[in-house]
Amino acid sequence: MKASAGGYARASDLRHALDLLGQAGDAGRVLVGGQSLIAAMNMRLSTGDMLVDISRISGLAGVTQQDGRLRIGALTRHADLGGDPLVGRHAPLLAQAVGHIAHAAIRNRGTIGGALAHADPAAEFPACVLALDATMHLEGPDGARDVAVGDFFIDVFETAIAEGEILTAISLPVAEPAEVQILKEVARRSGDYALAGLCLVRRAAGVRLSALGVGSVPVLAQGAMAALDAGDIDAAVTALRAELDPQSDTQASGGYRKHIAGVLLRRIWDEIGGTA
Ligand SMILES: Cc1cc2nc3c(=O)[nH]c(=O)nc-3n(C[C@H](O)[C@H](O)[C@H](O)COP(=O)(O)OP(=O)(O)OC[C@H]3O[C@@H](n4cnc5c(N)ncnc54)[C@H](O)[C@@H]3O)c2cc1C
Repeated sequence: MKASAGGYARASDLRHALDLLGQAGDAGRVLVGGQSLIAAMNMRLSTGDMLVDISRISGLAGVTQQDGRLRIGALTRHADLGGDPLVGRHAPLLAQAVGHIAHAAIRNRGTIGGALAHADPAAEFPACVLALDATMHLEGPDGARDVAVGDFFIDVFETAIAEGEILTAISLPVAEPAEVQILKEVARRSGDYALAGLCLVRRAAGVRLSALGVGSVPVLAQGAMAALDAGDIDAAVTALRAELDPQSDTQASGGYRKHIAGVLLRRIWDEIGGTA
C-alpha cells in the first residue's frame, strides 16, 4: 500500500517550521528520518497529512556538554549518536541502545528525536532516557518549555508534545566517575524490536531501572529500584515482575515477557558485581 495524498514543505529554520505547523493545524506532521512516519502513512494509519520536513534545520543535531549536562539535538541520527565520544563517555546507555536498533540503513536515517516523539514502548531510546532521568526540550508557538522525562510518555505512541510543538533536544546529567549504565534485552532476531529489555543506571544517589516492551509506555520500576538500593536482588526481581503488566501478542505472552525481565535483571546484577 502507498500513502494517501497530502502536502509537503521543507522548513528552513525552527521559526519557519513552527509557522508551517501552525498553518497546517491538526493535519501537520513533523517529518525527520521518516523511518516510522512514512511506514505508518504507507499503512494508512495516518492520512491527509501535511508533512513539515525539519531534517535540514541547522543547529538541531549534534551533542554538546555544558554546565554538567549533555545536550543532544533532536535531529541527531542513531548512527552518529552511537559513535559520538561525549555520548560514549557520559551516556554509554544510548550508545549501547544503537547497537540494538534495527539495521544500518535505519540507523543512518532515524533520529533520537523521532524515536522519542514516536514513543513506541518497545523502542530502546524512550527507556534509556527514562533511566537517565533526562529533560525534554520543546519549542512551540508560545515559546520554549521543558518536560521532565517522567511526564513525557503518556501512552502508546503518545507523548506530552502538544499540537504545533517540536522536540528540539534532550539533556541529561553527565556521568559520575563510577557511574554504571547497562542495557540488556531479548529479541527474537538481531535488529527486531525487543520482547523485553531493561536499562539500569547506578549513580551515587541510587539505582534507576526502566523497562521496555512490557507496557504501553517505558516503565520506571521504582519497587525494584528500592530493593536494588538495599542490595536484595531476589526482592528486586519479585518487585519488578509485580510492577510490569505486559500484554500478550503474537510474539510472546505477557507472562513470558515478565519472566524475561526478571532474568535480565539477574544478569545485569551479576555483571555489575551484585552490589548496590
Ligand atoms: C524496519 C524497522 C525496524 C525498526 N526497529 C527499531 C528498533 O528495533 N528499535 C527502535 O527503537 N526503533 C526501531 N525502528 C524505528 C526507528 O528507530 C525510527 O527511526 C525512529 O523511531 C523514528 O525516527 P525518525 O527520525 O525516522 O522519525 P520519523 O519517522 O520522521 O517521525 C516519527 C514520529 O515522530 C514525530 N517526530 C519526529 N521528530 C520529531 C520532533 N523533533 N519533534 C516532534 N515530533 C517529531 C513525527 O511527526 C512522527 O510522528 C525501526 C524502524 C523500522 C522501519
